Amino acid sequence: MTEKAAIEAVLAPIAAGRATVRVEGVRASIILDVTGLPEAAQDALEADIRAAAALPGIEEVRIARTAQRVNRKLIAVASGKGGVGKSTVSANLAIGLARLGRRVGLVDADIYGPSQPKIMGIEGKKPEAHDKKLVPLATPYGVPMLSMGGLVAEGQAIAWRGPMTAGALGQLVDANWGAADTLVIDLPPGTGDVQLTMIQKHRPTGAVIVSTPQDLALIDATRAIDLFAKAGVPVIGLIENMAGYACPHCGEVSDPFGQGGAEAAAAKLGVPFLGRIPLDIAIRTASDAGTPPAAGNGAEAAAFTAIAAQVHDWIETNGG
Ligand code: ADP
Repeated sequence: MTEKAAIEAVLAPIAAGRATVRVEGVRASIILDVTGLPEAAQDALEADIRAAAALPGIEEVRIARTAQRVNRKLIAVASGKGGVGKSTVSANLAIGLARLGRRVGLVDADIYGPSQPKIMGIEGKKPEAHDKKLVPLATPYGVPMLSMGGLVAEGQAIAWRGPMTAGALGQLVDANWGAADTLVIDLPPGTGDVQLTMIQKHRPTGAVIVSTPQDLALIDATRAIDLFAKAGVPVIGLIENMAGYACPHCGEVSDPFGQGGAEAAAAKLGVPFLGRIPLDIAIRTASDAGTPPAAGNGAEAAAFTAIAAQVHDWIETNGG
């Protein structure tokens, strides 16, 4: 057996296909693919490999780590104004995409009301940093997340301006997302500093706009659409939330704010209409309880799942 083959044989059970071995004289050079491994696991694996590869006749073991660059898709979720359900949609979209097989992370960049920790059932947990990078918090729904709310005391971020918000957004987006291939980013409402930094520095793959059916909200949504369109960020589509009232007693859906406004507006603006989500008390109570509907199999899950499927298709086709 050559020395190369001997080293490969001892590494096989340890490195699980991650090591590529070359031997020159007394030196073994090993390229170690650490894609998706946390820092601590990388260190442990390297130490194990270094010890195992030091077979008789080998005087030096060199190890270089590589990671296949994950071509991560950033999906920005935006709205013209607050309170339209943007955070609710972001959380359920993230879970819906994960259920379709994507590896999804959720970024709560809403400085005015970081509500994702509550919606995702991990309120009060603070993320830690390793090697100057934040480590996302696991959630019960297979979607790790980071929130502006985890970086500062409650209510403080609202006083941030330009450079501070830009720095904080950078910490969230460039965190240790590991193998995540998609980040859903819950932006603050409107067209302020966070949106501009997002667009200029992080170049989202696409944007999803959330609106309620009222005309006023739609005018605001139009501004949000314009912001992305002018910056060359593709608008994946418009979602109409609180689109009809589902009666908790009989299930009948009525339309207190009228019907079809958002769909008509989307057509006029030339952006796809991704669907409507009813105003449903079950959605509010599930969000407050930290059990997002998209994680379950109830009637409320279906609307979110259908929208997630469209966004998933869009990413597959247009995400590069
Ligand atoms: P935003 O992020 O746009 O400020 P949120 O997602 O925080 O809005 O939603 C505002 C409130 O409305 C929350 O209490 C949320 O649970 C509730 N909500 C959002 N969407 C719906 C819906 N489709 N049906 C019922 N309640 C909803």
